[in-house]
Amino acid sequence: MPDASLAQADLPPPFPHMDPELFRRRFGRAWSFEVVEAFDVGARLRRVVYTAPDLDQFDHKPGQEVILMIPARDGHDRRHYTIRSLDKAARRIAIDYVLHGDAPGARHCRSAKAGERLTVLGPRGRHVLKDCADWRLFVGDETAQPAIFAMLEALPAGARADVFLEVVTDADRQPLESQGEVNLVWLPRDAPAGQSQVLLRAVEGYELSAGEGHVYTLGETSIIRRVRQHLIGRGVPKANVHAEGYWRPGRIGGHEHVDD
Ligand SMILES: Cc1cc2nc3c(=O)[nH]c(=O)nc-3n(C[C@H](O)[C@H](O)[C@H](O)COP(=O)(O)OP(=O)(O)OC[C@H]3O[C@@H](n4cnc5c(N)ncnc54)[C@H](O)[C@@H]3O)c2cc1C
Repeated sequence: MPDASLAQADLPPPFPHMDPELFRRRFGRAWSFEVVEAFDVGARLRRVVYTAPDLDQFDHKPGQEVILMIPARDGHDRRHYTIRSLDKAARRIAIDYVLHGDAPGARHCRSAKAGERLTVLGPRGRHVLKDCADWRLFVGDETAQPAIFAMLEALPAGARADVFLEVVTDADRQPLESQGEVNLVWLPRDAPAGQSQVLLRAVEGYELSAGEGHVYTLGETSIIRRVRQHLIGRGVPKANVHAEGYWRPGRIGGHEHVDD
């Protein structure tokens, strides 16, 4: 858990004057990550593995994220990325980055070299597995694949999950290991990222089951919003649709709670 004893002096830039308790609630704590290695795990996905001396104290729930403070000319660019996996004993933590273009996050994963350091805040994030579910539906694009895979890998034995994942091509398919009963459908996109309708169409054709269902819909904001509205319109309780806008054309970093 975040270190409650975090001292003012430990706050990273640009937070030197922030109340430490507020910082802890909003960001968790600050860590100094060091790159161990980086390699491609898909046509458009690159994994960077980091270490930190105190990584054995890093406590998170599958699906949660960290905020990377990527050094920039005039300070830092803050970017949110999901914790893809953590091996506390080996002190290794992995993040999978979408190689989408020339921007700080995408550049960092392309150029990451062993020994390079950066400040990371976390863990944080509210979209984690709910225990009490008869069925679960996961809907997302490739930015959500790390979060969705981390949650699927954590499913208890026999737990039912249906998954719609939008990707660029079939070359982006990843192997999944889960104790759950997972029905994973890969959906190559039919238009540029952010404009493809494949997720929406899949959800429109999805048959809702009886019982308590939880939906996790993560990715490009406008698509996520429509998926959420569609499912609520069909009777899924609002509280059971966990939706977050991970990116949006033209938006720089950040995140959007999708609750409208
Ligand atoms: C909670 C959370 C968890 C996330 N987890 C992951 C993760 O595990 N892996 C991951 O890759 N991303 C993840 N994202 C999304 C990631 O934070 C954004 O894609 C972010 O904008 C990337 O930063 P950047 O510096 O590369 O691009 P920015 O500088 O933020 O953006 C530059 C331009 O690129 C566009 N852009 C950004 N992302 C994409 C994209 N994926 N495809 C096409 N255009 C894009 C922007 O709209 C903008 O026009 C997550 C976001 C959130 C909120």
